[in-house]
Amino acid sequence: MSTALAEKYLRVERLPHIWCRGCGHGIVLGALVRAMDEVGLDLDRTVVVSGIGCASRAAGYLNCDGLHTTHGRALAFATGVKLARPELRVIVIAGDGDLAAIGGNHFIHAARRNLDLTCICFNNQVYGMTSGQHSPTSPRLSLAPTAPYGHLEREFDLCELARAVGAGYVARAAAYNPRAMTRLLVRALDLRGFSFVEVLSQCPTYFGRRNRLGGAVDMLKWQKEHTVDVARAREMDPAELEGKVVTGELHRAEYPEYTAAYAELVSRVKGETGR
Ligand code: SF4
Repeated sequence: MSTALAEKYLRVERLPHIWCRGCGHGIVLGALVRAMDEVGLDLDRTVVVSGIGCASRAAGYLNCDGLHTTHGRALAFATGVKLARPELRVIVIAGDGDLAAIGGNHFIHAARRNLDLTCICFNNQVYGMTSGQHSPTSPRLSLAPTAPYGHLEREFDLCELARAVGAGYVARAAAYNPRAMTRLLVRALDLRGFSFVEVLSQCPTYFGRRNRLGGAVDMLKWQKEHTVDVARAREMDPAELEGKVVTGELHRAEYPEYTAAYAELVSRVKGETGR
């Protein structure tokens, strides 16, 4: 990231950041800054909302109004901000534990309403801030302090969930490819409705070390080898896709946006009742 871009979009006085060496979260933040710049976001009319966890610290580094809220509730706070001030651009940053476990119901209903929010999940497959306990996106049989013999649950596909409940835009990116990530974030920020981008972000400190995946570079290589762009995935049969993670723009649809529908309702009721 250029110095000019950093000085415009980041609170440089808060740097250096708290993330571990090799963490993917800085790559995601960098891509988000580039995407914000590309769509020309007005920082004075942008609010970034986050919950609790390593990923959620990203909100504090961005040079716009922010809400660092309680665990799992970022989307609930963001819903309040958006309904009170529909003209603002609201971006939600959350880790997988935050968004998919305690915040799971908020995620379902924000997507279902197609509320105009851009929600970015930094998916490192563990609760990083509290030392690597398994999360809903931890792969089956992966190791964690809470699963020393292998995690038995299947991982939660958050993109499938978002698409199924009615999000207007769903995409998946990986930290090894920040250019593709930036492109997807630009499209997400451009959409009027609920846009969701899941980003695979490596946690070498806990997930990588415990699962013997090597350091950050090895984990990025793993991402490169195990991700498949959605266009290519469509031509592959299920056997070839086994063990692969599909990236790219996974879903886009036109649904009524909630704040616009709400404004119409208010206007209609006022017209009918004269109040
Ligand atoms: Fe990143 Fe993991 Fe360190 Fe958290 S614990 S900052 S996710 S590497």
